[in-house]
Amino acid sequence: MTSIPAYSADNIFAKIIRGEAPSVKIFEDEAALAFMDIFPQTEGHALVAPKRLGAVSLLDVREDDLQTLILAVQRLARATEKALRPDGVRVMQFNGAEAGQTVFHLHFHVIPVWAGRPMRRAHGHGEPADPAKLKELADRIAAAL
Ligand code: AMP
Repeated sequence: MTSIPAYSADNIFAKIIRGEAPSVKIFEDEAALAFMDIFPQTEGHALVAPKRLGAVSLLDVREDDLQTLILAVQRLARATEKALRPDGVRVMQFNGAEAGQTVFHLHFHVIPVWAGRPMRRAHGHGEPADPAKLKELADRIAAAL
């Protein structure tokens, strides 16, 4: 696909995984890292990424990495549901710029949704969230793991 670039280890999630850029972590294991999205579309919007560098998208990830990653997505979705009591949980994943991908290291979005509270429409835009608020949400979700 023309809008999927080759993997570059300079992307922001690779820097977070290497500890070179800050993040508000929820949990991590050997294979995956769950952390808060800094431009959340709802309160509690978080991301799960594989720790192994190299996969841009769902299309090029190793099957064994995808298997462990999707279990981490389920773990985060369950903890989000338990901690924040949303009415639903949206899981999103984009492949290629034309599909809406802006960070080219594979990741899943886990987004709690509430009836009557619209999601902010665009992801990756606007003002970054207050880090203290993100930390409070991350702690609540982590406590429900
Ligand atoms: P995507 O468009 O699926 O590639 O989504 C990338 C997501 O990463 C967006 O929702 C951004 O808000 C989020 N994001 C970008 N930079 C950071 C960062 N430094 N820490 C946490 N989330 C980020």
